[in-house]
Amino acid sequence: MRVLVTGAAGFLGSHLCDRFLADGHEVVGMDNFVTGRPENIAHLIGNQRFRFVQHDVTNFMFVDGALDGVLHFASPASPRDYLELPIQTLKVGSLGTHKALGLAKAKRARFLLASTSEVYGDPTVHPQPESYWGNVNPIGPRGVYDEAKRFAEAITMAYRRFHSVDTRIVRIFNTYGPRMRAHDGRVVSNFIVQALAGEPLTMYGDGSQTRSFCYVDDLVDGIVRLFHSAEPDPVNIGNPVEFTVRELAERVLRLTGSKSKIVVEPLPQDDPKVRQPDITRARTLLGWEPKVALEQGLEKAIAYFKRESA
Ligand code: NAD
Ligand code: UDP
Repeated sequence: MRVLVTGAAGFLGSHLCDRFLADGHEVVGMDNFVTGRPENIAHLIGNQRFRFVQHDVTNFMFVDGALDGVLHFASPASPRDYLELPIQTLKVGSLGTHKALGLAKAKRARFLLASTSEVYGDPTVHPQPESYWGNVNPIGPRGVYDEAKRFAEAITMAYRRFHSVDTRIVRIFNTYGPRMRAHDGRVVSNFIVQALAGEPLTMYGDGSQTRSFCYVDDLVDGIVRLFHSAEPDPVNIGNPVEFTVRELAERVLRLTGSKSKIVVEPLPQDDPKVRQPDITRARTLLGWEPKVALEQGLEKAIAYFKRESA
């Protein structure tokens, strides 16, 4: 099998390339490095089954040769990134998804969209099943990401219905692990980097908002299972064990042995108060559930950031 991964130099895209290569497939990676890093794929350069194309996927995408799959992961994903890159975020979710679908159609390849729990917005249903339509503020600052992903889901289903493209949609919940950027602003990387540097941990609001954190290896396993399944409707992939942001800060302090203090900073506008995936569909359709507990995953992420800062 030969697959294209857009966003290949990013956190998740690079792990996905590793997994497809480890499974014996050929991978074409595409990225424009807007939030990704060459270091994430440096170990793949020279691998005969890997090719890299530097390209902005909002423009027409050309790939030589046959493709069996297109996995569309290109998009800024951290709130800090998409608030700094609002137009690029809207364009990659809309124009970029359109181009990636067009390529999948032309190559008769299976298409998998990396969607997000953000399609549920600040949810009024908890935990969130795929049948929930969400509570998104289209004109708020996060709208650039949330609405682009909602559009991406809509155009994916339209290509399925109208052009018979074989599509999959994964709704990814907060994921963490090695290759996150130290300063991408996401809570797990921020807290670990701050704790290791002996700096205060920046807790936004009172820290009572919740998230459910999935270790990257678990997530990639779920995505690969979905890709190889026949399931056309969206599937949540995430760890259903829910923590408050304050609990996360306390765990990071304990696991790093840091003496850092927790400081309170303002809660960003439209920050979801709760988030927890209902993974019934992933369990029943894919036989998938996460295996890595938060403490175990945090230890691996901490070891990574220690190596990075050494
Ligand atoms: P990331 O920022 O590390 O990776 C995204 C990659 O896409 C980067 O390498 C970036 O350079 C590339 N990119 C962005 N715009 C591009 C463009 N126009 N052309 C080519 N490349 C472009 O983020 P990530 O965490 O790896 O997220 C990957 C995907 O997963 C995104 O689509 C994101 O929305 C989705 N997702 C991630 C999470 C998470 O917790 N990490 C949660 C939900 C959804
Ligand atoms: N957060 C925080 N301190 C930080 C970064 C984030 O308290 O330094 C909070 C943020 O307000 C949100 C949660 O942690 O409630 C998760 O934020 P993240 O940016 O990781 O992703 P989100 O789930 O909001 O997309």
